[in-house]
Amino acid sequence: MTLNKLNKSIIQCRKCNRLVHFREKIANEKRRQYFDQDYWGKPITGYGDPSAKLLMVGLAPAAHGGNRTGRVFTGDKSADFLFKCLYESGFSNQPLSVNKNDGLKLNNLYLTTALKCVPPEDKPTSNELKTCFNFFSKEISSLKNITIILALGKIGHDACINYYKQYYDIKNKDYIFSHGSKNKLPDKKILMGSYHPSPRNVNTGRINKSKMVNLLKKVKKELDN
Ligand code: SF4
Repeated sequence: MTLNKLNKSIIQCRKCNRLVHFREKIANEKRRQYFDQDYWGKPITGYGDPSAKLLMVGLAPAAHGGNRTGRVFTGDKSADFLFKCLYESGFSNQPLSVNKNDGLKLNNLYLTTALKCVPPEDKPTSNELKTCFNFFSKEISSLKNITIILALGKIGHDACINYYKQYYDIKNKDYIFSHGSKNKLPDKKILMGSYHPSPRNVNTGRINKSKMVNLLKKVKKELDN
C-alpha cells in the first residue's frame, strides 16, 4: 500500500470508540485560546520526507496540538521544544511548528506516532495500541529508505520492537530503552531512544534542550556514516 493511500485510510478510521469520542469531544469543546479555530478532531498521519533516512516515533497527537492542527507535533508545547532542537540540529527549516500553513519542511526526517488518535491523559490502553498497530506497521513498511529509528519515549520504542517481532524472533529485553540508547535491529537498521519531549519531562529537567540537541547531533553523525 502506498503511503498516500495508507494516510487516507488512517484519517477515516473510527475503530476505537473511546478515542473517537475523546478526540471529537476535545474538538467540539476546544480550549479557550483556540475558540475561533476549527479543530481537526480526527486521526493524524505522519509528516515529513517519505524518502528520509530517519524516522522519529512519538506516542500520539496532543489534545490541543495535533488533534487541533491536524499535523503531528504541531501547535503545542512538545512541538515548541522539539522543533527548537530539530532546527538547531539541521532536521527542519525553521524552529517552529505552528499550523499546516507555516512553511515547515523536514530534512531527511519523517515524523510519526505509534497511536494516531489522542488518548485521554496521554494514556492509551494496550488494546488501542494493538488496534492502531496495523497502521503503524504499514507506515514503517512503506518508508523504504529508513536506516535509523529514533523512538521518542518507551511506547514508541515498544511499537518499533513489535514491528520487528512480526518478522524476527527477537525479545524486548535485548532492546533496552533509555535516553541515548542505541540498538542494532535484525535488518541492520538502528533503533535509538530519547525521552519524550513532553512538557512534564521538560519541566522536571528529565530532558532539556542541550540533552536533546546532543542526541540529535549524534543521530545525524550516525546517518552520515
Ligand atoms: S487510534 Fe488508530 S485504530 Fe484507533 S481510531 Fe484512531 S486511527 Fe483508528
